[in-house]
Amino acid sequence: MKIKTIEAIGISIPMVKPVKMSFEEVRAANNVLVRLETAEGVVGWGEAGSAPSMTGETLQGMVAAVRHLAPRLEGVDGDDIAAVMERSDLYLYGNAGAKSAIEMALHDALGKTTGKPACELLGGKRRERAPLLRLIGSGKGTAADVEDALKAKADGYIAFKVKVGVGDPRDDAERTREVCKALGNGKVLVCSDANQGWNPDQAIAYVRALGDTPLAFFEQPVPVGDLEGIGRVAKATSIPIGADEGLHSMDDLKRHHEVGIAGGSLKTIKLGGMRAVIEAGQLCEHLGMKVNLACKMAESGIAASAMTHIAAAMPALDWGVSLTNTYLTDDLIKRPLDLSGGHVALTAGPGIGADVDEAKVRRYAREV
Ligand SMILES: [Mg+2]
Repeated sequence: MKIKTIEAIGISIPMVKPVKMSFEEVRAANNVLVRLETAEGVVGWGEAGSAPSMTGETLQGMVAAVRHLAPRLEGVDGDDIAAVMERSDLYLYGNAGAKSAIEMALHDALGKTTGKPACELLGGKRRERAPLLRLIGSGKGTAADVEDALKAKADGYIAFKVKVGVGDPRDDAERTREVCKALGNGKVLVCSDANQGWNPDQAIAYVRALGDTPLAFFEQPVPVGDLEGIGRVAKATSIPIGADEGLHSMDDLKRHHEVGIAGGSLKTIKLGGMRAVIEAGQLCEHLGMKVNLACKMAESGIAASAMTHIAAAMPALDWGVSLTNTYLTDDLIKRPLDLSGGHVALTAGPGIGADVDEAKVRRYAREV
């Protein structure tokens, strides 16, 4: 398969409602799409969410990065995806998010060319479906969060993530405890995520206030630069501590493992592609770390479809999958993902299995 063209398309899709993170409010998804066409006329799609505070990449930066690489990759043989990405690294340092969109499009195109689902290109299918990690964080207090969690449980969800780190640690601990209790204290997976919102002392106050609440894990309590601090939190509690924003490479995983971090949230935009996420999962298995797979808030059904193939090929997937396409007011795929019963099913068809609606892509495209 020869790469003919690589097109970068900047898109902006409004969120159903603004999502409050610890220090920002996400109102619209600003993502780059990559439309890769081969000499044989096969089209592959990739997507990456902009995440200035996580990857350092803005929408404008990602579009520029893809456009910088496009003429250097067009005409190149695309069968060896690793070689194409090595070539990308020669011409452009960093920019893992932009590169991940190209890498995803290559997996889609190569899968369609060879008639294989992307999970087969990633080492083979180990599972057909994976539990979705349902976000709990209405911003309307404990009672509303408990009600939301119970409704989701009735719909079949077996994994939940409570958003914390915005308010007082003791208040967030109280809310976390109540959600855990309502869901049966250990009967389903409940975790929490502070998105770097606290300092180590606040994070330790939170885990202490949780008492013996059976929280499955507590993610990214402190800012990414504070490896000593996250290690201190891990030592202060028996609750497993996870990392997310702090993980951008295999070395990051090893460093976090050394200070006692129990697992991590793996994203294509942080690691640079689907293959890199699988390799990170293999390293996690080797180190005895747990894995959560996550799309960036918020990526469309294109990235979500790719994620079902990563989930299918992951060695172990103890901490569920976070998809974010349902937070968008509209999606870019014609055939919706099967999210029934709190699980996501592997998308069918070759490549990433996303039937992309090109008319919608053009509708949400913005001048960059
Ligand atoms: Mg997170």
